[in-house]
Amino acid sequence: MRKREKIVDVLRSTEVGREVFVEGWVRTKRGNKSVNFIALNDGSTVKNVQVVAECTNFDEELLKNITTGASIAVEGTLVESPASGQSVEIQANNITVYGTCDSTYPLQKKGHTLEFLREIAHLRPRTNTFGAVFRIRHAMAFAIHKFFNDHGFFYWHTPLITASDAEGAGAMFSVSTLDKENPPLGEDGKVDYNEDFFGRHTNLTVSGQLEGELGAMALGQIYTFGPTFRAENSNTPRHLAEFWMIEPEMAFMDIEDNMDLAEEFLKYLVQYALDNCADDLAFLEKMYDNELTERLRFVVSNDFVRLDYTEGIRILMESGVKFDYPVSWGLDLQSEHERYLVEQHFKRPVILTGYPKEIKAFYMKQNDDGKTVRAMDVLFPKIGEIIGGSEREADYNKLLTRMNEMGVPAEAMSWYLDTRKFGSAPHSGFGLGFERLILFITGMANIRDVIPFPRTPKNAEF
Ligand code: ATP
Ligand code: MN
Repeated sequence: MRKREKIVDVLRSTEVGREVFVEGWVRTKRGNKSVNFIALNDGSTVKNVQVVAECTNFDEELLKNITTGASIAVEGTLVESPASGQSVEIQANNITVYGTCDSTYPLQKKGHTLEFLREIAHLRPRTNTFGAVFRIRHAMAFAIHKFFNDHGFFYWHTPLITASDAEGAGAMFSVSTLDKENPPLGEDGKVDYNEDFFGRHTNLTVSGQLEGELGAMALGQIYTFGPTFRAENSNTPRHLAEFWMIEPEMAFMDIEDNMDLAEEFLKYLVQYALDNCADDLAFLEKMYDNELTERLRFVVSNDFVRLDYTEGIRILMESGVKFDYPVSWGLDLQSEHERYLVEQHFKRPVILTGYPKEIKAFYMKQNDDGKTVRAMDVLFPKIGEIIGGSEREADYNKLLTRMNEMGVPAEAMSWYLDTRKFGSAPHSGFGLGFERLILFITGMANIRDVIPFPRTPKNAEF
């Protein structure tokens, strides 16, 4: 058989008169007794190619089997299209039906709600919306690797199974091969994890950062890009129990360098999407969010505001807005506060720094005031926090003291403390939530709609 051409390439082609061979799934078929028009999509683009089939050239049974959702192959001639919105179409010479699709197929022509499509996550990639979202998701993953590779960072793989219980970023899922109904018990009557697979209690990681720091303290600049797990029972449009995170970690960079990198990185990714995902963005803009590309362009062309936490609190208190969570110094900002600063007050992305140490993790570098740490959260319109990061505490004694104060087991984490014992150096890093980025780029409103198979409380279907 001839070599398949992707529909994205066929539609770009201007060589009318040549033979083409395409394979895909039927989106719609319409027509009359003499001619059928088939809209065919193969996932390579949001656009369909129009296949024109003269009924006299084809068996009636065959044409009957060409229904919405069916998979077919088409050999034909590329011709100029009289229809608007496309320059070429395919005049079919030969059609093969690979797989028929009856009327119980849930993706018939009519539109569906995103909620309904979540229930058929195994089929929703075949819709225009999810095709667009997942192609953009791919492009962003590629752009992330490209950015870091071009900047001399090394892709560093951190473990998903970890023995530390206290990475400080959230509740963890336990990993065990013990029989839950009948676990081995120690003398104290508690489960004896010495008998477990790893000979100790283990969890799924909430962040690759701590092991990322080990890489940065050797290779200079690394990044991770992998799955992350949090067992928090937070049923929000911005939280998943299993999500992907990108965590660069850089030796010899302070908090200012860290902010510069985060801003350059985010702008690069947004620009990459504008340059490489135009058709999919145009579709999403038309269907869901008419300010989408305007918002993306705005982020690329404006400096992010850099704001001290204390100043941020003052702005919120003086705003006169009645928030669900009342504002005072020491508050861990909620999404409503973050979005007020970004969307109402500054109307630009904000990097908030100098948070109270009580609401941040043990490893963040302490400021001289004894009260605040060199944390930085990047806050985005519609999203709130998209990046969380900090300069790390490089001083062995300060770090150890803070671990003891916060109940972080220093002995079990002696390997982490060793970076501060042997050749400690200033270093910084941050974590970008991949799905929060995809939410921003696609304009989708719910994080369940930007990952193929979401994991959320009470939901692990597919
Ligand atoms: P939030 O306050 O929004 O719950 P966090 O402060 O717990 O986030 P970090 O520990 O700083 O998050 O993680 C770094 C980044 O990972 C966040 O800035 C966010 O983009 C992303 N992230 C965190 N938790 C989740 C989650 N449950 N689902 C998806 N992305 C997440
Ligand atoms: Mn955070």
